[in-house]
Amino acid sequence: MSEMPVFGAGIWHFATYKDRYATEGYGPPLGLLEQIDKAGAVGDLSVVDLNWPFADFDGNLDDVKAALERNQLRAVAITPEIYNRDYVKGSITNPDPAVRAQALKLLNEATELAKELGCDYVKLWFGQDGWDYPFQVDYHDIWKLAVDGLRELVGAHPEIKFVIEYKPREPRNKIIFPNAARTLIAIQQVGLENLGILLDFGHSIYGLETPADAAQLCIDAGRLFAIDVNDNFRGWDDDMVVGSVHLVETIEFFYTLRKNNWDGVWQLDQFPFREDSVEAAKAAIRFLKALHGALDALDEQALREAQASHDALAAQRLVQDVLLSSMARMTESQDVNA
Ligand code: FE
Ligand code: FE
Repeated sequence: MSEMPVFGAGIWHFATYKDRYATEGYGPPLGLLEQIDKAGAVGDLSVVDLNWPFADFDGNLDDVKAALERNQLRAVAITPEIYNRDYVKGSITNPDPAVRAQALKLLNEATELAKELGCDYVKLWFGQDGWDYPFQVDYHDIWKLAVDGLRELVGAHPEIKFVIEYKPREPRNKIIFPNAARTLIAIQQVGLENLGILLDFGHSIYGLETPADAAQLCIDAGRLFAIDVNDNFRGWDDDMVVGSVHLVETIEFFYTLRKNNWDGVWQLDQFPFREDSVEAAKAAIRFLKALHGALDALDEQALREAQASHDALAAQRLVQDVLLSSMARMTESQDVNA
């Protein structure tokens, strides 16, 4: 069997959530250190992505470092919160120059923290940068603010990478970076080598992309810096356990990464509202290990031949052969039900 990938998770996987119905939350609030301990309890996670400013937390950075260390975890990324109440009309594209300056200040501080923690990248998720209504914004102006703001931030820190995580919508009805192609155009216009994409599988499918195709596009542009995996019913960012709905497109996505020798972290971005968060992460990793084994068993030569003539049915047979036997194969080689 080929070497297992590094598994990671957004630390929010281990938080409890609120929505507009259960406004008191789906569970008691959990502090950051408790969330890190839960991530450690999964057993297979090596890295976590941390939100900043740290939520529900009145300790100091040394406490966070100690919690990571005792759980044998490393912070792979910092996700600055440029999408809360202060930024309801956007962060770097906010119409108010004072808010744009405040956003850049927060982004620069988050970047310094990422450097101090030895992170691989700073994750930029522009959930509030966009619009809700026709005629609400001038599309030229808002795009220019986005590209100029990115260039100012990313250009100031050439020693660390930045990723844009695109998403079609939510919380804004239209987010300024909704898909791979538009995000790549922005990256091209920014013109800096340390800016790339985090491809979130769930965002890609509910934006009606083919995730494997989006990944290939980003890889060919040299810009696929990170991935998040999860699943949904394609109408919303449900953030369900990876592989629970779109099994075939998930294996096609990972096949594409392997074909290109992409060796980044396999990172969970799941929101287990009603499930136990540690068990949800374990279920995801159990599935991902089996999928990894399925790719080992896949007859790549035969698949390439099928693809050379666009033979859909031959390709499907090859994938089904390995996919539908992969969990049994995993169970034989080790106890994946543990
Ligand atoms: Fe994500
Ligand atoms: Fe998401």
